[in-house]
Amino acid sequence: MATFPVLIVGSMALDDLELPSGTFKNVVGGSATYSALAASTFAPVRVVAVVGQDFPEAELEHLRKRNIDTSGIERREGNTFRWAGRYSANLTWRETLDTQLGVFAGFDPKLPASYADTPLVLLGNIHPALQQSVLEQVRQPRLVAADTMNFWIEGEPAALAAVLRKIDTLVINEEEVRLLTGEHNVAKAAREARKRGPRRVLVKRGEYGALLFDEQGAFFAPAYPLEEVVDPTGAGDSFAGGLLGYLATQPEITPLSLRRSIVVASACASYNVEAVGHRRLLTLTKNDVNRRLDAFRALIHFGNELFF
Ligand code: AMP
Repeated sequence: MATFPVLIVGSMALDDLELPSGTFKNVVGGSATYSALAASTFAPVRVVAVVGQDFPEAELEHLRKRNIDTSGIERREGNTFRWAGRYSANLTWRETLDTQLGVFAGFDPKLPASYADTPLVLLGNIHPALQQSVLEQVRQPRLVAADTMNFWIEGEPAALAAVLRKIDTLVINEEEVRLLTGEHNVAKAAREARKRGPRRVLVKRGEYGALLFDEQGAFFAPAYPLEEVVDPTGAGDSFAGGLLGYLATQPEITPLSLRRSIVVASACASYNVEAVGHRRLLTLTKNDVNRRLDAFRALIHFGNELFF
């Protein structure tokens, strides 16, 4: 069965993370890194991003070893995007301590010609005008998914509205879909978001899993109840990457193949949070994912027989 390539656009970063388990500096991160590593478990990946002179070449080599094409990663004069965050003791919230845009400030995604025919596209959380520019450089993809955040919802509503009209799948945090639509109830918020363009909306709810709203109704995938979460950074990005990576192995995008992909996405995110930064994803295999799918089956199976 043919596996299609996946195009991923987003940030590549060096993060400083203050976690309950310690402080970790210069951890490789960014939405594109997490998404690409998760997707590469299933499919060939093409990345469009920008890094500075300080980004270790060995890290790009790690990506290439996982069938990730890095020819769309531009290395520019200056520093890589840097983000610093501090998590609460129970990891339920985090605050941004510092953001240094560096070369990311001048990011103008230019797709190598060989990327133009990529059938599955993930627009990571970047300026909506840049997301739009990427869409103008690809030819009729089968599926376009996009992520966004409060910064763009509040700061660039018109540019974001234009992107929403062009995508079919919105992958968004619960708080952000509320902000986008002004609806508190998640089902109502998703319905409203769907009116603005995407035919399906996937709401990420952290440790409470993810909800899909599409033409078939609602679907729920739990987050795996891990006893020990080490670092939630990139959970949403690895979820989105796993989603598109697995969809790329499917001959058709149907409501069922999408639902299967969402469970795979949740498995990828659950592995990502088990180690600091992108470390666990570097070695993630289909076998690992399979084991967690079994655990999910056990988690939600309560027999098919009638109760009464
Ligand atoms: P997540 O935990 O899924 O929100 O993703 C965390 C990653 O997003 C970190 O590795 C950061 O480097 C990156 N990040 C943080 N702020 C931004 C931003 N404003 N734009 C792009 N990427 C960001």
